[in-house]
Amino acid sequence: MISGLDVILPPHKCVECKGCCVFDKEDLWEIDGIVETVPGGIRSDNPQEFVCVHLGEDGCKLGENKPIECAVYPFRVMRFGNSEIIAVCKFCKAVMDLPLSRVVDFAESKADEFSKLSKANPHIIKEHNQEYVILGRLLR
Ligand code: SF4
Repeated sequence: MISGLDVILPPHKCVECKGCCVFDKEDLWEIDGIVETVPGGIRSDNPQEFVCVHLGEDGCKLGENKPIECAVYPFRVMRFGNSEIIAVCKFCKAVMDLPLSRVVDFAESKADEFSKLSKANPHIIKEHNQEYVILGRLLR
């Protein structure tokens, strides 16, 4: 999806964490986007916590068929004023533990890929919010 994402965020780290597949109330805006593309959506035994139905013991059961929003997580293309930006979620511990310069370099080096992906899939472009650190601006 975005080449090299598995280098900066090795899949075993996601399996250990699974945090981006469990949502709290404040994350409902992310679920909206995901539910559009994930038949069955989310399950919840607890009104404060929503778990994606596709989350299994070994991580996402959809593999390469997971929604684009999930495939590019923790990165997002977002609207910020009149610009489109690449941002990274503050709550992805594995990526936030990396030097910020490495994360910024990765985002800058993949700007064309993010741009093409978001042009082809405009629904993945979210409004920026405080949960995401801005890494750079996309040039159109
Ligand atoms: S579709 Fe897969 S990656 Fe996306 S939230 Fe559900 S379990 Fe996680």
